[in-house]
Amino acid sequence: MNVPFLDLRSTYLELQTEIDEAVQRVLNSGSYIGGAEVEAFENAFASFCGASHVVGVANGLDALKLALLALDVGPGDEVIVPSHTFIATWLAVSQCGATPVPVEPTADAFNIDPQQVAARITPKTKGIIPVHLYGEPAELDPLINIANRHGLFVLEDAAQAHGAVYRGRRIGSHGHAVAWSFYPGKNLGAFGDGGAVSTRDESLARRVRMLGNYGSRTKYVNDAIGFNSRLDPIQAAILRAKLPRIDEWNARRSAIAEQYTQAFGPLLATPPGPQERQGHAWHLYVIRHPDRDRLQQQLSDAGVTTLIHYPRPPHQQEAYASLGRGVGSLPMAEQYASTVLSLPIGPHLTPAQVDHVIEAVANSVASISQA
Ligand SMILES: *Cc1c(COP(=O)(O)O)cnc(C)c1O
Repeated sequence: MNVPFLDLRSTYLELQTEIDEAVQRVLNSGSYIGGAEVEAFENAFASFCGASHVVGVANGLDALKLALLALDVGPGDEVIVPSHTFIATWLAVSQCGATPVPVEPTADAFNIDPQQVAARITPKTKGIIPVHLYGEPAELDPLINIANRHGLFVLEDAAQAHGAVYRGRRIGSHGHAVAWSFYPGKNLGAFGDGGAVSTRDESLARRVRMLGNYGSRTKYVNDAIGFNSRLDPIQAAILRAKLPRIDEWNARRSAIAEQYTQAFGPLLATPPGPQERQGHAWHLYVIRHPDRDRLQQQLSDAGVTTLIHYPRPPHQQEAYASLGRGVGSLPMAEQYASTVLSLPIGPHLTPAQVDHVIEAVANSVASISQA
């Protein structure tokens, strides 16, 4: 049996009628930039995630970058980011001319450790970007408290957290701004690139929209050196067709996660424990193993495709060589990079596929420990 990591085509087939109709509607509308479809999705997504304003942009990296610029981040500023994240979180800070200042997770969590954030704040610090990595909400309350005490912003990177819930409220308006990606593989994915910024702050939303529209609020009047970064109406129409299914798909992910955790949670503990994982959107199910590469090979031999999120932390990428952070400088991020492994968890996995993954993991782990 083969278990692909992701099966995007199944999503399309499940909603083929709605999606085809949505695409046709845009083609027939004669309006191919902005317009009613984008606005309708922005409104639908705002009510979904509990934000008063949503601004569609071209992708998740732009969502982070435009939000940072709208929050006045520029050269000379520092922004606190997780050491263990997808590199886009860092790139957005660098693209504003500011410096990403990494903070580690602890040994029993994947997300940024609020206790270590305070120690990294300097007079240059402008804000904090917690990432809800793998779909698990970061510890927002302590981070927001620290930010408020020091006059900093909190910009959430929610690219992996559509539908996730923190303390009874969906991710979408806890921090000053929230950046979203609709890259096809995300929990809410378009059929191409897409992104958005959500916020409670109307003037911030207006600034993001202005910056993504050539720095213009009124046609041919330019207030800032802006960008062209807009959510495509075809993608917006597809996203609006998919949005009503997200809770159901996330529930399916959650049920698979529960099965995995019961089967091998104690052995391959994915921190923290399941009782603390309320509200997790289960974008990824990540296990850890000291002999990760061998485990991945054995699973592949058993027909189970796995991925690594992420094999090399941002500070060890050539792109950040200038920061001068060598091996051992961010040990938790480095340890995670060498031990994490993501199992298939899409909503379209069949029960037989889930059983196959569980059996393959159990067999591989047993054979590695006997070797
Ligand atoms: C996917 C992702 C991004 C970037 O989103 P794009 O739409 O691909 O630009 C940023 N941050 C995290 C954590 C992501 O997973």
